[in-house]
Amino acid sequence: MIEFYNVSKRYSNGVMALNDVTVKIEKGEFVFLVGPSGAGKSTFIKAILKEVDITTGKVTVDDLTVSKLHRRRVPYLRRKVGVVFQDFRLLPNKTVYENIAFAMEITGAPARTIRKQVPLILTLVGLSEKRNHYPNQLSGGEQQRVSIARSMINNPPILIADEPTGNLDPDTSWEIMKVLRTINRRGTTILMATHDREIVDVMKKRVIALENGKVARDEKVGVYGYDD
Ligand code: ADP
Repeated sequence: MIEFYNVSKRYSNGVMALNDVTVKIEKGEFVFLVGPSGAGKSTFIKAILKEVDITTGKVTVDDLTVSKLHRRRVPYLRRKVGVVFQDFRLLPNKTVYENIAFAMEITGAPARTIRKQVPLILTLVGLSEKRNHYPNQLSGGEQQRVSIARSMINNPPILIADEPTGNLDPDTSWEIMKVLRTINRRGTTILMATHDREIVDVMKKRVIALENGKVARDEKVGVYGYDD
């Protein structure tokens, strides 16, 4: 589903953020991406989304060769990959329902599809009752669930979660992990960058650890393995 072949990324200041990375993530996997700050995790994610152009190597996502993809086709790539961030990034002046509906509108979905799909997605993340609330009327965990719902509107085969529990307390973090696990069980491949030791150690999923731009560990049932 996601493949890196000998991928390196050298920024213009000379920093090698990725250094000869080769990994393969299969359809339906749940993978944690860990490593110290500056290890290359963000660059790895940006290479999947074509937010950075890699220097050498090849990145593929599903049937697309990202590194060769024409700018014009980047929206097509983005529809295959839902993304969730640490800071939720919701529109403050729109309700829960409108945040999700708006994301569908900009992909050109017909009104009828939106009316049908939004309630289904809200049920998936357990937020049907809060559909008319604004983001500032929600807890952090609820806001993250809206953000996850929004990322799933096109039912993408891949979901990237970049420190999705970074702003949440431990109990709320586990609620978010349950939602992600449900989405994964429905067949979506999940790549989650995290510094949350407890979650990684308890979930017993594959762990890819980056250090200095290289894959330092790749374990089928991994642990967090750092002191930070
Ligand atoms: P992580 O997400 O693991 O903290 P990053 O991918 O953000 O790591 O960064 C990897 C390395 O690349 C770091 O040394 C960082 O300073 C450097 N870096 C990241 N983005 C840029 C950029 N736009 N320009 C130059 N160097 C960068």
